[in-house]
Amino acid sequence: MTALMPETGRDAPIVRFAPSPNGLLHLGHARSALLNARFAEKSGGTFLLRIEDIDRERSRPEFETAIYDDLHWLGLDWPEPVRRQSERFDAYADALKELDRLGLIYPAFLSRAEIRVRVAEEEASGPPWPRDPDGAPLYPGSEREMPSAERAGRIASGAPFAWRLDTARALAGLSAPLSWMEAGEDDGPGHAHPAHPALWGDVILARRDTPASYHLSVVLDDADQKITDVIRGQDLFEATAIHRLLQELLGLRAPVYRHHRLVVDEAGRKLSKSDADTALSALRAAGRDAGEVSRMAGIGTELRPFASPA
Ligand code: GLU
Repeated sequence: MTALMPETGRDAPIVRFAPSPNGLLHLGHARSALLNARFAEKSGGTFLLRIEDIDRERSRPEFETAIYDDLHWLGLDWPEPVRRQSERFDAYADALKELDRLGLIYPAFLSRAEIRVRVAEEEASGPPWPRDPDGAPLYPGSEREMPSAERAGRIASGAPFAWRLDTARALAGLSAPLSWMEAGEDDGPGHAHPAHPALWGDVILARRDTPASYHLSVVLDDADQKITDVIRGQDLFEATAIHRLLQELLGLRAPVYRHHRLVVDEAGRKLSKSDADTALSALRAAGRDAGEVSRMAGIGTELRPFASPA
């Protein structure tokens, strides 16, 4: 059996930096953006900026403006118009319809809080409940086989729900094991890394009021924008298994993945948008110049001063 792998024939590289405008960019974002831009420069490719603003509650115009200002200050430039995911909901809804037609998604009504309660009850009298690679309890799957009349009734009554992928069924339809091309921080073609999407259980692909999740929108836009190399932080490494599965189900070409080491704080934790002192705008206001910030983000040097283990 041949493993399902992305094609390796190389086109002129197209890379993207894809921040969500729900906070200020920090040194970790600078690292990702600069690694993408450098890769494009070295390989004669194109660097794109994509605004991942599907979360209409958390996305704010002032953060989007700050993204443009910070990246320009770092010396980056990109072709206009910039893709904004909030303008792509129709495309995401079409893909969701296709997965529905294939019988691979189902509405699930349990909220995150209800899942937590259920898992706590189970764990009180049994072994630890399985967790996904990010440490969240796996969805119990209890609504997968809900009778269709009950589903229809709940939807008609206005109950909120999420569309979940029937991961086991999706995997059962594949002709071979899944993998992705992983090149880490290298410039080379990478090596095949096995993908195990079942570790994530039945992931959410959309919600009643938002016809897309990060997983669905990211694979659709990477394919639509013909991204050849996804350069992003190591924190998204495991999620790539889900992305590969969705690419197979939707007939999308897979890019090469180049997950890079993260910038971490003195305690070894990954930076967060709430750490005001590593925000690029704060570093700029404190008088740092773009070259210094790029070195702090580990570009062209070792990862200093907040080095993460190799
Ligand atoms: N929008 C995602 C984030 O800000 C990045 C997605 C990706 O690079 O795949 O974390």
